[in-house]
Amino acid sequence: MVFIAAVLVAAGVLFFTLFIRDKDIPEAPPPSPTAHLEERRAQIYENLRDLQFEYRTGKLSDADYQITKTGLQRELAHVLAQIDGIRQAQPAQPQAAVAAPAGSNGAKSVAARACPHCGAQFVQSLRFCGECGKPMIA
Ligand SMILES: [Zn+2]
Repeated sequence: MVFIAAVLVAAGVLFFTLFIRDKDIPEAPPPSPTAHLEERRAQIYENLRDLQFEYRTGKLSDADYQITKTGLQRELAHVLAQIDGIRQAQPAQPQAAVAAPAGSNGAKSVAARACPHCGAQFVQSLRFCGECGKPMIA
């Protein structure tokens, strides 16, 4: 009898706990429109670092490393472009209008494709280096 009561109480507590959890802890909405993208960006950088580590420790072949790295960098460029797009769509960004002085545009975009820290070259200009993760602007 006592045992059955204990089981019932335990079941009740378990049900109550799960019920509360499900109902009272909904997924919080992102605090900023780019938050989920920045999270993804950080994740890609982490993956790139892991990839580099595995490559250096000899777990990956050259071909596998290049394929995975290119894929991650492509995804990174996509995420960065999305972040830029969202930020430029927001009106409270005075720098966006002042950016891009005439004349230096071509040289700037070329320079932005080579990392000033590790010298890695990229097909598209990035804000952060896909190799070492440092800012592409020195
Ligand atoms: Zn770099």
